[in-house]
Amino acid sequence: MTTGERSPESVGIVGAGITGLSLAHYLADRDAEFTLFEAAAEPGGVVRSDRVDGHILERGPQRVRRTEHVEGMIRDLGLESEVRTADPDLPVCVYADGEIRPAPFSVEGFGETDLLSAEAKRRVLAEPYTDPADPDETAAEMFVRKFGDETYRNLLGPLFGGTYGSDPAEMPVGHALSGLVKLEARHGSLLKAAIARTMGGRDTPPAISFDEGLQRLPEALADAHAENVRFETPVTAVRADDDRGYELETPDGTESFDRVVLTTPADLTADLVVDLAPESADALRELHYNPLAMVYLRTDLDAAGVEPALGYQVGFDADLRTLGVSWNASMFDRGVVTAFLGGMHDPAILDESEDRMGEIAASEFEAVTGAEAEVVTVNVLRRGFPAYDDSWDAVERVELPEGVRLATNYTARMGVPSRIREAESVADDLAAALT
Ligand SMILES: Cc1cc2nc3c(=O)[nH]c(=O)nc-3n(C[C@H](O)[C@H](O)[C@H](O)COP(=O)(O)OP(=O)(O)OC[C@H]3O[C@@H](n4cnc5c(N)ncnc54)[C@H](O)[C@@H]3O)c2cc1C
Repeated sequence: MTTGERSPESVGIVGAGITGLSLAHYLADRDAEFTLFEAAAEPGGVVRSDRVDGHILERGPQRVRRTEHVEGMIRDLGLESEVRTADPDLPVCVYADGEIRPAPFSVEGFGETDLLSAEAKRRVLAEPYTDPADPDETAAEMFVRKFGDETYRNLLGPLFGGTYGSDPAEMPVGHALSGLVKLEARHGSLLKAAIARTMGGRDTPPAISFDEGLQRLPEALADAHAENVRFETPVTAVRADDDRGYELETPDGTESFDRVVLTTPADLTADLVVDLAPESADALRELHYNPLAMVYLRTDLDAAGVEPALGYQVGFDADLRTLGVSWNASMFDRGVVTAFLGGMHDPAILDESEDRMGEIAASEFEAVTGAEAEVVTVNVLRRGFPAYDDSWDAVERVELPEGVRLATNYTARMGVPSRIREAESVADDLAAALT
């Protein structure tokens, strides 16, 4: 296909993950013209749910927080009857010193927890007297300097590092914790910010999924905007077009758009913009992702008398190769939990066979919880979480021509709610620019 008669000003979106589909949704809501190109045969990108042996397995995110933006999507798409909500009282836990214990997220919880010794707690209370976070220090240096080594190793390191499958010792504060730095500046200290948050009654929205898994959300978005979404249509290049903004090349031909939004992973984005912005392509290729293996374990936590939880992260002094385990079994009654292996701490484990990774995950889970576990299957993600390490210095060198922009989890925040929020703000900008 080549460009025919000039149509109204229009946006070309590359990628039907949650960002691209949310952008499509918000553009449609603003009566803006768009076409969305997706290389794969199905929507969702990283968000993928499969049914195996009767269990719903999440190949990417395990749960999503029901923020205002997620709530809005559920309403717009009529998905309320399919929502599964985890009990809001389920704790996030840490495995340290041979036990699984809830991580404290309130003043009372902090007072009561035995994850930290009395000395470690005193050290935490002295945080307001420490120097502010420095964007050039690593997250590990900052946590240890401000809260002490024990709190870092038993609590903050596993919770923060676990979220990214990353090593806080490799993550500069400026890349990994810019939101926290702003909070500290606003409240005068991180401890005061945390207390203000719990005292202000700002509850974390509950964790949710859907009956058929999280992929239901991108599927419903793709159905709602089916006319403008093209599956199995990889974009192979973005080029400047003399008449009109930019040309997207696909195996079916080329099409021109006034604006282009790329939502693709960094290395694939580099391939797309190499002619348009060769130096930006080089910079994008430098960004690291943490590889991950996810092992799905069939287990019966109730029968083993294990207290329900959202899951646990593994403390840094524990001699385990598992990074953490998401308990979809107790969150969404799925009969399976997902163990995460690899990450920046242990990429070599991905060289093991899937059987061996399964054995490691199952035996460690049994040792930690006392519940029997049987491997359902193993999923390997060579490109897992963005690493937000030193390689993120390269983001400063990414400069795309006006009219081409990125909406991605490596240039903004990673969680699904943040991806949806960014899509809305990009749609606002584009709708204003196109009118
Ligand atoms: C293992 C894992 C667990 C996670 N857990 C959570 C969690 O529990 N909660 C949470 O909120 N977030 C979680 N996240 C983060 C969140 O899932 C991701 O940040 C988000 O889904 C990324 O969506 P995206 O649309 O920006 O990118 P992607 O999902 O990567 O979408 C990009 C799309 O572009 C397509 N594409 C690539 N190249 C081309 C091309 N040339 N032409 C056309 N299309 C192309 C791809 O096929 C893909 O569909 C997790 C992420 C991972 C990896």
